[in-house]
Amino acid sequence: MRNGSTNQSGKILATSDEFVPTAFHLPGELPGLPLDESEPVHWQVAMKRAIRSSQQLRKAVRLPPDSAEVLGAEGKLAGERNFPTFAPLEFVARIEPSNPDDPLLRQVLPVTAEEVEQAGFAADPVGDLNALVSPGVLHKYEGRALILTTSACGIHCRYCFRREFPYQQTGSRKDEWLPSIEYLQNQPEIEEVILSGGDPLTTTDEKLDQLISALEDIPHLKRLRLHSRMPIVIPQRITEELVERLSSSRLSAWMVVHANHPQELSESVLARIAKLIDSGIPVLNQAVLLRGVNDQTEVLAELCRRLVNHRIQPYYLHQLDRVRGATHFEVPVETGLKMIDSLRAVLPGYAVPQYVHEEAGKKSKSPILDNTRKVNF
Ligand code: SF4
Repeated sequence: MRNGSTNQSGKILATSDEFVPTAFHLPGELPGLPLDESEPVHWQVAMKRAIRSSQQLRKAVRLPPDSAEVLGAEGKLAGERNFPTFAPLEFVARIEPSNPDDPLLRQVLPVTAEEVEQAGFAADPVGDLNALVSPGVLHKYEGRALILTTSACGIHCRYCFRREFPYQQTGSRKDEWLPSIEYLQNQPEIEEVILSGGDPLTTTDEKLDQLISALEDIPHLKRLRLHSRMPIVIPQRITEELVERLSSSRLSAWMVVHANHPQELSESVLARIAKLIDSGIPVLNQAVLLRGVNDQTEVLAELCRRLVNHRIQPYYLHQLDRVRGATHFEVPVETGLKMIDSLRAVLPGYAVPQYVHEEAGKKSKSPILDNTRKVNF
């Protein structure tokens, strides 16, 4: 479906024309890979030309197509019908061709393992729907509230804990931020607003400006945090205008990006993030511990090194949220704890992320420490 931000069942979709004005429609064929990153296209064009099917993606990275037996009549894997493929070429260009185990490919390529049902893996693993206090607003933690700014993302991560989130039922739609603003106006204890989604940076600068201006008018708000994977997957989204808007805000702006593997941190990604940091906006990174992606200490150490070398603070390493369709990504907590121990041995303390998991109904993320080794995951 191309013309809505959610499909009929309310599933996340990043392919909406809502975010891609017709002026940016592509004239012809997709460009070949590798991309010439020295001449980036407009970020909305990048959204428009993103790969939208597992078979297209396999072709782009020179892998054989899936067999007809595993593909349904529409030529799609079962998991793909619920959560479509969406991978921008900027990200695909960092995948090693002909390598089915490439750690970036694993994050975006639908596989039959998504059909495995396992007890404890659910549609809403972190209890987001119970934390919905007003259309488009989640209020879980003291002093902070989260706005579901949009349902669209710049990439579809197969392990996403919101892969089945019913955005359509939660009021998180473009032009429907008024209830969120009214809720925040009436909650004087809230001092920080988190723009999340989907991905807030799939919203145009103009719309974002309207939202930020409305937030700036609420006197008790002090900080604005954006959670976005766009700087990693479509780095040209970090425009001069965006940097200027955020850095000149009355609110202290913080950016939390999301990279799981050092291969994601291309030179163009780091150069764009440097513009944010140079303007005074702190940038943090959160990663998810994923089997076959970053479950080796050397990989995680290299990610953290590369982040701090470029002034990005490793913030969280999340234990996988047990969302349906992501069983094949889970890494045992024991392994995660050993990896964190090993990181401490080779990195300065500020370069080691906090290993955490989120539990529905808890008042904060829970750190995973040695004395919780017996936690039943
Ligand atoms: S992990 Fe973030 S960027 Fe990826 S699909 Fe989920 S919300 Fe979107």
